[in-house]
Amino acid sequence: MKGKLIIVSGPSGSGKSTVTKIVKDKLNIPLSISATTRNPRDGEIDGKDYFFLSEEEFKNKIANDEFYEYAKVHGNYYGTLKKTVEDNLNKGLNVILEIDVQGALIAKEKKKDAILVFFRTKDMEVLEKRLRDRKTDSEEVIQTRLKNAETELKYENKYNYTIVNENLENSIQELIDIIEG
Ligand code: 5GP
Repeated sequence: MKGKLIIVSGPSGSGKSTVTKIVKDKLNIPLSISATTRNPRDGEIDGKDYFFLSEEEFKNKIANDEFYEYAKVHGNYYGTLKKTVEDNLNKGLNVILEIDVQGALIAKEKKKDAILVFFRTKDMEVLEKRLRDRKTDSEEVIQTRLKNAETELKYENKYNYTIVNENLENSIQELIDIIEG
């Protein structure tokens, strides 16, 4: 029996990471660690939060066909390794990928029964406030992320479900219901 592939996307600041992390813990879903060429933020650990690679290392993995999907997001490369996804699905384990909209559509092409879940805030004001409140990014990065959010929101209609993330507990339950449904 194969596991389900659940793909979570949404603008940076939509709260998708917080909800996904809690749901993974609750449902014992293994972590899937992406590779990226962006620099680690304070406190992020290589091999735990991401595999932090140089652009050259990332491009070598592209050439070796090691990625299930990859995309350029906010000026950096991000990708899911094939091994991460295929090993777990074959073991019958569910896999949650938290990836951008371009990567989500690539993964959906590969696995037609993948479940796509889109996270967003009620409006752009809430999103901007969340990005500022987390104090992890420079003004320039915040502006890039807000601009990208407008593009990402145009993809919402390609997703199977939307979670409007206003209340943490409700969003966690909604995601659990989608996965178990
Ligand atoms: P952040 O830099 O905030 O960790 O992530 C930025 C964006 O990259 C988020 O939208 C996140 O979902 C996306 N992302 C993270 N890992 C992957 C991946 O493996 N593939 C793709 N396509 N996007 C990813």
